[in-house]
Formats: sequence, C-alpha cells, structure tokens
Amino acid sequence: MKVSSYLCRRKRDMENERRKIIHVDMDQFFAAVEQRDNPDLLGKPVAVGYDGERGVVSTASYEARRFGVHSAQSVMVAKRLCPDLIIVPGHYNKYKEVSAQIHDIFHDYTDIIEPLSLDEAFLDVTSNKVDEELAVNIAVDIKRRILEETQLTASAGVSYCKFLAKVASDYRKPDGLCVVHPDRALDFIAQLPIERFWLVGRKTAERMHRLGIHNGYQLRQFSLQYLTDKFGKAGQLFYDFARGIDDRPVVTDWVRKSVGCEHTFLKDISRRSEVTIELYHTVLELLERIQKTQFKGHTLTLKVKFHDFTQITRSLTVNDILMEKAQILPLAKQLMREVDYAQRPIRLLGLSVSHAEVEEEKPLHGQVETWEEGYLPFEEMKVSPDLSKGGSA
Ligand SMILES: [Mg+2]
Repeated sequence: MKVSSYLCRRKRDMENERRKIIHVDMDQFFAAVEQRDNPDLLGKPVAVGYDGERGVVSTASYEARRFGVHSAQSVMVAKRLCPDLIIVPGHYNKYKEVSAQIHDIFHDYTDIIEPLSLDEAFLDVTSNKVDEELAVNIAVDIKRRILEETQLTASAGVSYCKFLAKVASDYRKPDGLCVVHPDRALDFIAQLPIERFWLVGRKTAERMHRLGIHNGYQLRQFSLQYLTDKFGKAGQLFYDFARGIDDRPVVTDWVRKSVGCEHTFLKDISRRSEVTIELYHTVLELLERIQKTQFKGHTLTLKVKFHDFTQITRSLTVNDILMEKAQILPLAKQLMREVDYAQRPIRLLGLSVSHAEVEEEKPLHGQVETWEEGYLPFEEMKVSPDLSKGGSA
C-alpha cells in the first residue's frame, strides 16, 4: 500500500473514531412553558417561582432577564429589579411531561443520552439510529421536532466533546445552533470569554480576571501546576478545556430493553424469494446490532408493515440467549411463514430481540433532585465551593 493512501486512510479512520456530541438545552424552559400555555404572559417579564419573601426565581423569561432577573435569585430582589415582573408558580408535572416528550425525540436518534436537568441533555450520536453522518443534521432535526411537538424552542451545540457542545449550545441562544468543528476548536476556545467556560461561575470568573485571564487564549498560557494550585481539581479541567480536551463520555442511565432494525423498501415486495432475501439481510443487520450492543435477549419479534400501512408483529421466545445467526435465522423464517403476504405486498420488515436477561435494576444516577435550572449534577461541581454557575436556561 502506498504511504499516501495509507495516511489518507489513517486520517479517515481517526476522523471516524472522533465522537459526535450534541448538547440540547431548552430556552428559558419553565418560563417558556408558562408563556406557551397562557398567552397573556407572552412578551412579558415572567419569573417562575414562589411569590413570597423566601421565594427564589427558578427561571426567568428573556423579557425579565433584560432587567437583570436570573435563576437562583431571590424573588424580592427580582421584583426590585423589575417592578412589572409577573411571578408564576411552577407546574412541575407539566415540565416533566415536556421533558419526557423531548427525551422520546432524543431516543429516535440515540440511546446514549445524559440528562443534566429536565431540559438539558448530552446526546452521543457518533453512531446513531438514523445512520446520519453529520451530527449537525441531527441537531437541526431535533430542534425542528421539538418545536413541532412542544411549540417550544431549544438551542443545540454540536462538537466532539461535552465541554464544547455545552458551550456551543449557549453560544447563540435562544433558538440557537452552533457547531464547533474539531479543526476550529482551538480558535473558538481562544476567543471564548472565560465566563462562558463550563464550570466557570461568577466567582470563579472574578478570580480568573484577577489572574489576568479573560479568555481561552489567556487561560492556555498557564501551566497545569499553576491552575491546580489556584483552582484545585478543577484546574486540570480548565487546563484541558483550554486545549479542547475533554474525554468524558456521555453517561447514560438508560437500560436497554431491546435491540432491533427495520427496513422500508423502495418498492413493496410480495415474491417469496424477495421476502426471503430481505429477511436474511435483516437478520444480518440485527446480528450486527446485537454484537455492537452486547444485548442478551430471549425473544425474537418480527414486524411486518403492508402496502396499506396495516402492521402485524409475531414473536417467539426461546430458552437460549439470541446471539447467533444459526439460532436467529431459523426462528425468523418460522415467524415469516405465519405471515400471509400473497395478497398484501410488504412495505417494511423489522426484527428485534427483547426480553432481556433479568438484571438488578440499577439505581438511576444523574437524576435531578432539584427543580432549579442550571443545576449541574457533576462531581466536578464539588471540587471547589465557588464553582457555581447560574447557568442560562
Ligand atoms: Mg435550558
């Protein structure tokens, strides 16, 4: 093999290994839901929170933010800043419902989802359910569907690591979309104001300023030793962030219940030989997915959609774990024999394996205990008491 073609291939392989991460963040989430459901609130300064002496703002609308109202602020202070502020009590069940809706959308693209709060999540779409090469296309699609299905806007950031995806989602808010390409990451970080760095709250930003650090370029000039001396463990993160390094995986607390694949044909099929070939290909793809996910299930389900969009499913459960072609192919054929497609051409074929080995339910981590937006349930948050970030919802 020629060296140049080898290098080309190596470069492509490295690019393929590169992760594709999207951070999705709903805009002014609680306030947006309230404004959506009560048009009287549209265009007005709204804060969601308890209207009392000890009340705290959980989300402020953009109209209120212009007055300096922000989340985690006392309601009394917020009212002083913005005398016309309308305080609305929170409807948390409703927010949870919308959250479930957006998670359903996410799951159409990937199951590797790490929620940061009700309205924010990382998605690893390096390999995804829609076989889309470009993460930005997925981000566009997710934003469009969120708007269609919830009438709310979301902002999305796309990059190769969590840090940059998170910063990017905040970069063009509201209704924003920002992509930080690996080749441009260092330039992007260099000009990034230090306040915009993940985990840099107001107090940390002030300390950075006192050290003469106002942007990523300046941060990059300091040694790891210096930064850990000043910021403890977070110093390592800041050192890496400045260099565009963040290998932390998207950690999902979702437990897989099945694995499957399906195909819609360009032309409906009804000849037995065609159906057998397509079934065979579907089995091969299913096997690939089983291997990739290491899923262990006992039930094979065949799904058939006909030309008139009616649909049937047929299942078989066996004792053994379904992982081999020698087991799955005969079962798939057996299920197919029960389907009468002579008069009904087939539009779609699907196969899945489910009924997982019973495992002890894992406790869900990363679950959000607080309703306050911008809360980051990360280990890193605990390393230094002043690493609090108000966060923009
Ligand atoms: Mg938000």
